[in-house]
Amino acid sequence: KLNVFWFRRDLRLEDNHGLCRALANGKKVRPIFIFDTTILSKLPSTYDRRVDYIHQALLLLQQKLNVFGTDLRVYIGNPIDIFKDMNRVVSIDSIFCNVDYEPDAVRRDELVRAWAVGEGIGFEAFKDQVIFEKSEVMKKDGTPYTVFTPYSRVWKSKLDPKDLLPFEIKDDWFEKLDLKEIPTLDEIGFQKTDILFEEPDIRAADINDYDKNRDFPGMDSTTRLGVALRFGTISIRQCVLLASEHNETWLNELIWREFFMQILFHFPKSLTQCFKPAYEGIVWRNDEREFEAWCNGETGYPLVDAGMRELNETGFMHNRVRMVVASFLTKHLLIDWRFGEAYFASKLLDYDASANVGNWQWAAGCGCDAAPYFRIFNPEEQLRKFDKDLIYVKRWNLDFESKSMCKIVEHAFARDRALRAYKVGLGK
Ligand code: FAD
Repeated sequence: KLNVFWFRRDLRLEDNHGLCRALANGKKVRPIFIFDTTILSKLPSTYDRRVDYIHQALLLLQQKLNVFGTDLRVYIGNPIDIFKDMNRVVSIDSIFCNVDYEPDAVRRDELVRAWAVGEGIGFEAFKDQVIFEKSEVMKKDGTPYTVFTPYSRVWKSKLDPKDLLPFEIKDDWFEKLDLKEIPTLDEIGFQKTDILFEEPDIRAADINDYDKNRDFPGMDSTTRLGVALRFGTISIRQCVLLASEHNETWLNELIWREFFMQILFHFPKSLTQCFKPAYEGIVWRNDEREFEAWCNGETGYPLVDAGMRELNETGFMHNRVRMVVASFLTKHLLIDWRFGEAYFASKLLDYDASANVGNWQWAAGCGCDAAPYFRIFNPEEQLRKFDKDLIYVKRWNLDFESKSMCKIVEHAFARDRALRAYKVGLGK
């Protein structure tokens, strides 16, 4: 009998909780990855930087496993079908993995667990992606926090240095496997993209001045570890350790990540519905041509356009600019936050359902602990404040100086219109 370790959002050997638990279980362990066709079939394009990123990360993982005399077995299909086929040949004792908290993943894992239990196979999932999961940080009355500040206070008070100790591979209990090439991107049905996977190195993350510089998109001073955290090519424990020693502002950002994860876990409906139900009353304009202009970075507002072009060209956008473009779409153009959320989901390399939905709802005013609806960013003032030397906008808006900027809508007019629509929608 054999144990299987199923890699998902934890594509690393170092400090991998579930993997270490599998290897300490006294049976040989087969490391596997499944390109889940249910997930792949929902992606809007076959040119997807995330799939390419995963593919490249798997190649590295494979090399590292080879050092242990084993290999990575990569499958394409539906997880239950894959496990059924495997079980016919090798007889699985237990499936080990790390917990994934997204609603679709929770449903998938429930199905896999139910099948496994029916077959007399174990299914063991471990906490790896976060420091505190599910209901570990709750209010005294046992309900989840929906406001960040008290959540983060309790989060910090609960943090014990022991929580950050790395999980180390002690026993070489890997199954001996011959080297087998992993499927090509083409075989998975995807194209090569411009993404170049680099193994994230926490030592290279310079966070000492994060609090001072993080708001200035021209400075490129954030860590860009979002994608590594998304796919687990870096360990959250290492990040939190670094943050606790060097920069509390950065630590707070990592706590925001967990805050939104637990919100989505406890309120899965907020994936598609306003966290504050009253906001469902807003009548959005949803003008298709304006949405297209926003997507293409053609609104005439330099900061908004630069942000959208950065997103379209690289799959990344600076956080300050994400806030500005999201506010612009929902308030200036009165387009439903769900359109913007879906567009970001299709493009962002670091796309994460909980962070994306949480931040979009925050920008639209309808989320938990959201910006008040009457706070409407002035995109020109934001430019003056955060990119006064135009470093960022010129980088992404190559025609910035030559173009006479024709604005899609005047700020003052749009602001009044948004305030009216929100007030009417909320019955104020
Ligand atoms: P850093 O600034 O170095 O921060 C470190 C890490 O902390 C990030 O990688 C991320 O994991 C976490 N983090 C930072 N800010 C936030 C935040 N506000 N909420 C949750 N986690 C945070 N982040 C995502 O990871 N995925 C998304 O899909 C996503 N969508 C967003 C949509 C909108 C409209 C907005 C306003 C923000 C969104 N963010 C999202 C949050 C934030 O913009 C990115 O995490 C950050 O810009 C990534 O850059 P970085 O890796 O350099 O992060």
